[in-house]
Amino acid sequence: MSSVSLMSSPGSETFETVIGLEVHAQIVSQSKLFSGSSSQVFGKEPNTCVSFLDVAMPGMLPTLNGECVDQAIRLGLAISGTISLVSVLDRKHYFYPDNPAGYQISQYQKPVVQDGTLQILNAEKAWKTIRIQRIHIEQDAGKSMHDQDPHKSYVDFNRAGVGLMEIVSHPDLSNPDEVIDYVKRLRCLMRYLGVCYGDMEKGQLRVDANVSVRRPGEGLGTRVELKNMNSLRFLHSALNYEIRRQIGEIENGGRIVQETRTYDPASGKTRPMRTKEVADDYFYFPDPDLTPVVISSEHVQAIASSLPETPWAKHARFVQVYGLSDYDADLLVQDLDVSHFFEHVVSFLSDPAWAKLAANWILGEFFATLNRTNTPFSDTQIQPENMAALIQAVANKTLSNLLAKEVFGIMFETGENPEKIMKQRGLVQVSNQEDVQNWICTVLNREKDNVSAYLSGKDKLFAFFVGQVMKESKGKANPQAIQELLVESLEKLK
Ligand code: ADP
Ligand code: MG
Repeated sequence: MSSVSLMSSPGSETFETVIGLEVHAQIVSQSKLFSGSSSQVFGKEPNTCVSFLDVAMPGMLPTLNGECVDQAIRLGLAISGTISLVSVLDRKHYFYPDNPAGYQISQYQKPVVQDGTLQILNAEKAWKTIRIQRIHIEQDAGKSMHDQDPHKSYVDFNRAGVGLMEIVSHPDLSNPDEVIDYVKRLRCLMRYLGVCYGDMEKGQLRVDANVSVRRPGEGLGTRVELKNMNSLRFLHSALNYEIRRQIGEIENGGRIVQETRTYDPASGKTRPMRTKEVADDYFYFPDPDLTPVVISSEHVQAIASSLPETPWAKHARFVQVYGLSDYDADLLVQDLDVSHFFEHVVSFLSDPAWAKLAANWILGEFFATLNRTNTPFSDTQIQPENMAALIQAVANKTLSNLLAKEVFGIMFETGENPEKIMKQRGLVQVSNQEDVQNWICTVLNREKDNVSAYLSGKDKLFAFFVGQVMKESKGKANPQAIQELLVESLEKLK
């Protein structure tokens, strides 16, 4: 492992944190894993996307949806996993009202994907490899609703039977920040591949985090599972709380019980849900209604050759083709839409060398404005061609940076193109010698003391004068013209 985070508790002893994740990702597919009902269930009236199979009516037989398997293979290939040409669908038994068959169809000993990797950034901003044990496919459960009636519980079976991929990592994560980076990069990859939309608010991505602590040099500690975390913010807080709790227990001479805990955002604490089942409790066995999943190597090959570009391939391309820094490339590729926007903007630039400037503007002023106004990127009114026109105007010095920011602000609000805004508001940069000279005279007359100081050797004041002239012109003066004319004017005063 390339990095471990050490964490000192108030008792001053040092502990290492060890975390492994089980990520449940809803598979993008028209229909459910074993039935023909729609898998687009979010926000639908309860029990309107349900077939007889989904509620385990007697005599109903499952038919495997091959598209769901292909989706898992796509992800498996992208993480350099081994695709099982034969995998098995097992029944995992447990009793729960939202699980009408009394078992969930899942994969146990022979999952469709084994042994992959995903790169994340650690605290030192170095790449760290997280090993992925397996990806298996399984059915989602329905949803119990306890808040509809004071005396009864209801069950909505819309989600029952929707295909999930469970992506299980090795315990290679060393702190909550790494966990968040891992989930974000996995989600980003799945979106690139079109295999999961990853909207946590819609339950399309749920994380079970297994966490343990140990003294350096010791073997793995007893783990606690934090179940069904559906927000990254809560996941981060829950882990922080749980790590401290475990260290506290151990330092006080207690021991950690292997159990499943849940996080309560209101109190910021985790509390026990149940002691963790072991696999024996589930009585796993191959589903007798389903034959093993057999995949030809030609089929795997065909999927491999049609795989879209991965985030890291795009990252490398952005660095190579556009000359971006690793840092900028990483930020731009993390959101598929942002990366498209960037390339769209660049396609409108007359000089490809300005791509870096485009990256600066998107990651700088644009992102800052989105943040400040709490606007999601998807809601922006800014058209790529307009963004390109603005960058072009900055690049060829028609606009100073100051004016460009002002124009950008109006573009952001109105969606107008920058030429129109500049014309309407008289924001065009002034390079006209006479105007610039007038502003310079005003400043030099006002700053007599500073001028004398400059003439007696305080060179640094030059930049100050430039700034003052820019201010005097209300940001309109062409910076190049200021420089040239200012040198001349000061020369004359010597
Ligand atoms: P199970 O089959 O009971 O779910 P696994 O061995 O498959 O258990 O592990 C489930 C998850 O727990 C994996 O993501 C794994 O990385 C993680 N894990 C296993 N042992 C530990 C540990 N001691 N500390 C933290 N995470 C662990
Ligand atoms: Mg598990």
